[in-house]
Amino acid sequence: MKSKNLSRVPAFILMVFLALQLVPQQLLAQSNPEQNVTAVLWFQRSAEYRALCYQAFNLAELRIKEYLPKLDREKHPVVIFDIDETLLDNSPQEALNIAEGKSYSPEAWTAWTEKASAEAVPGAVEFVRFLAQNEIEPIYLSNRMGAEGTMTLLNLQNCNFPYADRNHLYLKSDTSSKEFRRSMIEKQHEVVMLVGDNLSDFDMVFEDRSVNFGYKTVDSLRADIGRKFIILPNPMYGDWTKPLTGDRKSWLKK
Ligand SMILES: [Mg+2]
Repeated sequence: MKSKNLSRVPAFILMVFLALQLVPQQLLAQSNPEQNVTAVLWFQRSAEYRALCYQAFNLAELRIKEYLPKLDREKHPVVIFDIDETLLDNSPQEALNIAEGKSYSPEAWTAWTEKASAEAVPGAVEFVRFLAQNEIEPIYLSNRMGAEGTMTLLNLQNCNFPYADRNHLYLKSDTSSKEFRRSMIEKQHEVVMLVGDNLSDFDMVFEDRSVNFGYKTVDSLRADIGRKFIILPNPMYGDWTKPLTGDRKSWLKK
């Protein structure tokens, strides 16, 4: 019966439905750019956002000072950083999308990264430079595409991030999951800390948000947060939007 009913569905509707399954859920959640106004305003205009960034990097520095005497220098200690909304502030592009009434598009994103003009997240440059002074190298692990490498490095250099070179940059080649690239880095280094705005920047266990919005996973790894994992605030986009499809009323706590 099922296949018989399916055959009555016009082919083009079926194609649209199938195409929608291929669209990242993050994009679906942002399909109306107006929905992002409050998030971008908070990111760009709240002193609270700025304070939270300082809080994250102050805590990170405190932890590193604790770890310094115990580090095995022969293992080449590193800190892994995500780039977007962790070190570089791309909110001007989010704001432009709202102003133009457009959703995210790879073309608009590439046009933005080609400018290499993103400003640093508050406190980020100082923290990475503090690491360098203590002979801990940063690894820049991003889901920007390989073709964006040159301008990404230029942007990091413009902001005075140290070690902004090809040897310290791991970009996306095929999969968005950072797990394989993290494992490659771990083979060569002792990873002292990971810094990101998305929990998936830390470990692949955070990629699945289908059960309880991922809360249980966070609870189970609570002891690592603020120690091995340092998280930056980002209300504009992220894996947290993955479960947000369907009935809006079901998302909201009252
Ligand atoms: Mg990010």
